Amino acid sequence: MFSRAGHNVVIDTTPDFRQQALREKLEQLDAVVYTHSHADHILGFDDLRPFNMRQGCAMPIYASQDTLAALRRTFAYAFNEPPPGITIPRVTLHAVNGPFDLLGTSWTPVPAEHGDMSVLGFRVGWLAYLTDFSRVPEESKPLLAGVDDLVLDALRDIPHPMHQTVQQALDLVTELRPRRAWFTHIAHDLPHQETNQRLVRQGFPHVQMAYDGLHFEVRL
Ligand SMILES: [Zn+2]
Ligand SMILES: [Zn+2]
Repeated sequence: MFSRAGHNVVIDTTPDFRQQALREKLEQLDAVVYTHSHADHILGFDDLRPFNMRQGCAMPIYASQDTLAALRRTFAYAFNEPPPGITIPRVTLHAVNGPFDLLGTSWTPVPAEHGDMSVLGFRVGWLAYLTDFSRVPEESKPLLAGVDDLVLDALRDIPHPMHQTVQQALDLVTELRPRRAWFTHIAHDLPHQETNQRLVRQGFPHVQMAYDGLHFEVRL
């Protein structure tokens, strides 16, 4: 979640979205930005409904054309006129083709490869958030230049067709040289404390495992 002056944008609505919103006492939601349409990133979509009721308006959704098409398929009921008296999630769809503005700041999509699927990461100020990818194509690397904070996929040590290993993540950190990096989309193979200690030993004290409820400030 990205917060600024009491306004909030959520990246992906995971199956845990409801619990995350309760945990963070999310009172106001201004928009949702999607990285891709895998189930673990969209299945909380229906829980946007309370924000529709509370805020009295449709939720702006930002995603690639492919992701928007998958949302329409998966949640078809939300895109048809409901029977009288029935509420459905109400959204306005914005296809992401380039940078867009949210909460008074520019969001730049960063295309990446998640196996053979195209996904989006996002650059906001000096933050880059890239979950679920196996490779950042060369054309996207200039979009990540000079970032302070890099959140990136590091699934485990064993290679996976759609996610980075710890070593691949560290190679990208070495190349992009962020001030801090946070691993996300971590499998159970990587114990939290031990992995953090190992990263320090390996010469990456500025790279740590992200965790539920992690908060940090970003430069805009
Ligand atoms: Zn995925
Ligand atoms: Zn995922």
